Amino acid sequence: MKGKNNGSAGEQGLFGELAPAAPAPRKDGLLFFSYSRMSLYEECPLKYKFKYIDKIKEEPKYYFAFGSAIHKALEFLYSVKAPPFPTAEEVCEAFRAEWGLKSYLEKGYRTQQKADDDYQKGLLMLRAYYEHNRAVLKPPFLVEYSTDVEVDGLLVRAISDRIDYLGDGRMLVTDYKTGKDVRREPAQLYMYQKIMELDPAIKERIAENYGRRVSSVKIEKMLYYHVPSNKEYPFDRASDAEIGSFWERVLGVAESIKGLKFGATPGERQCKWCDYKHLCPDYFGGHPGRAEAAPASSERIEALVDRYGRLKEKMDEIKAQLDEVAAGIARAAKSGGEYEGESFTAQVTKSPRWEFRDREAVLGVLNRFDIYQRALNVTVAGLSGLLDSPDLSEEARRGLLEHAVRKTAVDIKVVRKPGT
Ligand code: SF4
Repeated sequence: MKGKNNGSAGEQGLFGELAPAAPAPRKDGLLFFSYSRMSLYEECPLKYKFKYIDKIKEEPKYYFAFGSAIHKALEFLYSVKAPPFPTAEEVCEAFRAEWGLKSYLEKGYRTQQKADDDYQKGLLMLRAYYEHNRAVLKPPFLVEYSTDVEVDGLLVRAISDRIDYLGDGRMLVTDYKTGKDVRREPAQLYMYQKIMELDPAIKERIAENYGRRVSSVKIEKMLYYHVPSNKEYPFDRASDAEIGSFWERVLGVAESIKGLKFGATPGERQCKWCDYKHLCPDYFGGHPGRAEAAPASSERIEALVDRYGRLKEKMDEIKAQLDEVAAGIARAAKSGGEYEGESFTAQVTKSPRWEFRDREAVLGVLNRFDIYQRALNVTVAGLSGLLDSPDLSEEARRGLLEHAVRKTAVDIKVVRKPGT
């Protein structure tokens, strides 16, 4: 076994899976691995394949966005080499800055209201964390420490939220959690123990920070810190036997991945939150595409109602996202034209159009000038044609214009580029 540190960021973070900051490192014959990859494979190998082999992006998840913003704020708090620490308000400001980087849809929320609620919750959580820890704040040894270590044919990435140095090469690793306060198995911490103790770069950091070289490092204590409740779940250093059996599990998963074993393991829990349902032939409860297109005649009305509701919600959500993105394109495209993305080409056309706001008032004008029939029974197209018509009297035009607004219609046609 040998260790190597790349000092790279990304993958498995404080709040589980974060988007990699850079493409996963590839080394000949090494399988890129992490605790979150292993968890996903154990949940469903096919889901792993969709995500890591086929590289099909998942939908943004609001709980990752929330966790990530809390994480950034705590990283800010602990990124001091010596006191004074930032104030509680400065920590909240770091949270605000991270939160503001994406819209509620980009963060994975369905409504602005839900995002706003979580934003307030995050501020309260950080203030409570600060108060709870104010008296014991001390600069950690490392914060958000990321390392890639080569071991047993794997390149394993581990990212520790916080590492405190206890002297003589001994360390305490803390992993923050922001989700539900549930009992967690220590496996993720075992991964830290295994990888951090193999990581030669940590010894260098100890020498740099504390002026003393150590021959070995030892993770003496590990803990999950549940931020919403300020509860700590400490674990003593795992025994060699515990690490040995954990590592057998890691190597078993790695062998299966190398052997391209990607059979689905459908189940209510994992399928419910899976973004690949539409691609999956084994989706728990039947294939959504087929089932929703042609429901079995025996299907109960209650199930159809729920399915309809879910589809409708999804459609509304997608519609809102489409509107937002289209508005962004319309703003950026200025006068229209052809624009290229990586996978798509968009033809953007802008044209003027009329909008009529007060139907009753418009009807009054049409009746006053006896031009009701010419407005094609008061359709927008009919009214627009009427306004643009050269033989409309000036008086009638002025009357209609009082209730009309000139807007720009934007039409976006996209085609996928060949081979993408
Ligand atoms: S829908 Fe279920 S079985 Fe299919 S990939 Fe997702 S988790 Fe696996």
